[in-house]
Amino acid sequence: MSQRRYCVDDADQWAGWSYYGAAHRYDVHGTPEAASACARAMDQLEAAGDEARLRELALADGDRCAFVRLIEVMVDGDRIDDLRALARGGDDRAFATLMELLFRTDRVEQLRAEVGEFASARLWLAQLHLRRGEVDAGLAELAAAELDPEHGRSAHSERIAQLLRFGRLAEVRAMAEAGDRVAARRLRQFERELDRSQ
Ligand SMILES: [Zn+2]
Repeated sequence: MSQRRYCVDDADQWAGWSYYGAAHRYDVHGTPEAASACARAMDQLEAAGDEARLRELALADGDRCAFVRLIEVMVDGDRIDDLRALARGGDDRAFATLMELLFRTDRVEQLRAEVGEFASARLWLAQLHLRRGEVDAGLAELAAAELDPEHGRSAHSERIAQLLRFGRLAEVRAMAEAGDRVAARRLRQFERELDRSQ
């Protein structure tokens, strides 16, 4: 078995890995023998440094296990330019992996640099700030993400959730009073739960 750089067992939405380490998370080959034969074949390609073949299998033939191995090699080598090149070509899996790597390795400035090209990187940047305890910076990035047509609604909803989480009820109340229905609904929900727990 090839040794990987990062462990894969502490998964959550932001700090986990979606593809890295996930080749045989589910039974995709039907039998344990077939799965280990696949793992051996991938080990051999990696050991031989045959990335051209890995790419061909992963990208031309759509072999998921080969894709996982390819991005594992890139992640372990910290090859963010190569991951970005795949993401730029429209591969959402490579984009998710790039974000997960930058988040996990706490690279705020690099994540910020990705926002220029990938609008949804801002959601990752916001979460990294929040994880670092930089609450205002995280909320500001969520507010900025609200202007993005594709991610605006989820960013808005997430910002309200975080404001409530950090006890900033006055801000949510002001939003609700200004006619923000999401804020009003979340606030009512929050207050109901508060009543119940008292
Ligand atoms: Zn496989």
